[in-house]
Amino acid sequence: AELRDLLISRIRDVQDYPQPGVVFKDITPLLADPVAFSALVDALAELCRKHAATKVVGLEARGFILAAPAAARAHLGFVPVRKAGKLPGPTLAQGYDLEYGSAEIEVHADAFGPGDRVIIIDDVLATGGTAEAALDLIRRTGASVVGVSVLLELGFLAGRERLAPQLKGAPLDAL
Ligand code: 5GP
Repeated sequence: AELRDLLISRIRDVQDYPQPGVVFKDITPLLADPVAFSALVDALAELCRKHAATKVVGLEARGFILAAPAAARAHLGFVPVRKAGKLPGPTLAQGYDLEYGSAEIEVHADAFGPGDRVIIIDDVLATGGTAEAALDLIRRTGASVVGVSVLLELGFLAGRERLAPQLKGAPLDAL
């Protein structure tokens, strides 16, 4: 509860971003606070250990900021899931629908080996569409997903409910 209060106190509401009517949760004050940022990275690294992950995936772009230091702190490797066209090697791709239009994410086809246990980290779970696509993508490589961890879950968007069938029992942790 103490960690939760600290983290929430460093997240700022920005009205009408990226479009009118939307309240954007801005995590840059948290990233800029050495105590809060370090506590967040520690908590994410602890989730990596708890779920016995062997690889840490970060979702572009804010997921990278959290997943990479958490992976290093847990002594695990980091794997980027990127927007289409950014990775140099052979990739697997997964499309998904956005509120307006669609998007595609990619991962290197050789990023995981057999037996890899992957934890997916992102900053915010909103509708769950991004995490759902990442779950599908990573499982298609043959790796198993042992958890999805986010800093913040926007409960009113029901991402957890949308994700539930895809999680197949893997825990969704929102700090
Ligand atoms: P979803 O696919 O769950 O609807 O949206 C989640 C993705 O959009 C995440 O990658 C997250 O970074 C971004 N996102 C959506 N809403 C917010 C928000 O209010 N604040 C931040 N920081 N990211 C958001």
